[in-house]
Amino acid sequence: MTSKREFLKMSLFGTSLLGITGLFSKSQAYSEVNKNTTKPIVISTWNHGLAANHVAWQVLSDGGKAIDAVEQGVRVPEADPSVMTVGYGGYPDREGKVTLDACIMDENQNCGSVAFLQNIKHPISVARLVMDKTPHVMLVGEGALEFAKSQGFKEENLLTDKAKMAWQDWLKESKYSPVINVENHDTIGMLALDNNGDLSGACTTSGAAFKMSGRVGDSPIIGAGLYVDNEIGAATATGMGELMIKTVGCHLVVEMMRQGLSPEQACKAAVERIAKKLGDYKQFQVGFLALNKAGEYGSYCIQSGFNYAVTDKSGSELQDAKSIL
Ligand code: ASP
Repeated sequence: MTSKREFLKMSLFGTSLLGITGLFSKSQAYSEVNKNTTKPIVISTWNHGLAANHVAWQVLSDGGKAIDAVEQGVRVPEADPSVMTVGYGGYPDREGKVTLDACIMDENQNCGSVAFLQNIKHPISVARLVMDKTPHVMLVGEGALEFAKSQGFKEENLLTDKAKMAWQDWLKESKYSPVINVENHDTIGMLALDNNGDLSGACTTSGAAFKMSGRVGDSPIIGAGLYVDNEIGAATATGMGELMIKTVGCHLVVEMMRQGLSPEQACKAAVERIAKKLGDYKQFQVGFLALNKAGEYGSYCIQSGFNYAVTDKSGSELQDAKSIL
C-alpha cells in the first residue's frame, strides 16, 4: 500500500519513478530529479524506529540540532520495556545481567561511547556526556557506571520479569548460537540531518541476547556500529556485531559514499565485503543504514527481514531493506 509519504513524493517527482528498481535506486532517482537537499530528515533501524523518530522529529522540526534529535530519539526504545534488545527490559547476558552498549557522534567528529554499562537506563545520554564533558571517547564497565553516577544518573534494575523468564528458559539448554534476527527489532541506530545541514548519529543496544559476560559488540564502537562524517554522510548498523567490527563496517559505508556511491549502494558494498571476507556470513544477519549530506538514504542487509523507519516533512514510514540472500 502506498503511504501518504510515498504518495506525496510520487506526486512531487512524477509517477515515472514508480518502476525504478535495482541499482538505479529511489535515492538516486531522488537526487537526479530534485537537486535540493531533503532536510531535516531522520532514519533509524527496525520497527521501534518509528516511535524514536517521532521524538527526534520534534527536535528537528523545531529547528534543533541533529545531535540532540538522535539522543532524544533513541532514548524512547531505551526506556521501553517491550523493546527487549535496547536499554530497560533488554535481554541479559549468560549470567542474567543486562549490560548496555551505546555511542553517539556529531557533525564535528566529536564522539562518546559506553560499553558493558549496567543499571543505567539511558546509556546514550551517558555516551553524550562522555563526548561533551571528558577528554575521552569511550568508558566501559565500572568506570562508565561511576562516571554516570557522578553526572546524576540513578542506578536501577533493568532486568524485567519478561527478560528474566526468557533468560531462565535459555538456561535450560544454555546453547550459545546467535540467532538470525528477522523479527523487526534489535539495536537502534539513528541518523539525522538537521535544518542547518549537519549530520549526527546514535546507536544503543543491550547487545546479543545471552552473550558471554563482558562481550561488547559493534554498537558502541565508532566506525563499526556508527560513523558520521559531516562532509559526506553517516551510517549505522544492526545484526551480528562481530562482523561489523571485523570490517569496520560503518566507516566503510561512509568511505564508499565518499567515492560517489549512493547510500544504498554503499550499504550493499559493505554487506558484500562481509560476504567476501567472512565465509560463514549466511548464518548471520547484518544490516547497514546510511544517510548522505543531501538527505538521501538507503540500506542493505544479508538476510531479508531488516527494516527501518524514515521521517521527514511528508511523514513517517517503514521501509524494507534489500538483501543479498
Ligand atoms: N549489533 C548488536 C550487537 O552485536 C546487536 C544487534 O543489532 O543485533 O551487539
